Amino acid sequence: MAKARVGLYQTKGDTLTRTHQSCPKCGPGIFLAEHGNRRSCGKCGYSEARATGANAPKGKPAKPGA
Ligand SMILES: [Zn+2]
Repeated sequence: MAKARVGLYQTKGDTLTRTHQSCPKCGPGIFLAEHGNRRSCGKCGYSEARATGANAPKGKPAKPGA
């Protein structure tokens, strides 16, 4: 088990804010790697497009592992 990396969370007062999105397949604790226009999970390989302004996809990405 790798140590938790610094910088995955930001605290503002009593509020804990995730700066990285967790993997919907692996669950909380597994964070998606941020790439230019998408995120990906290094554990299960899940990936999804990031919303990037005018090019943001409408709705949610297709269900993974269907
Ligand atoms: Zn995953």
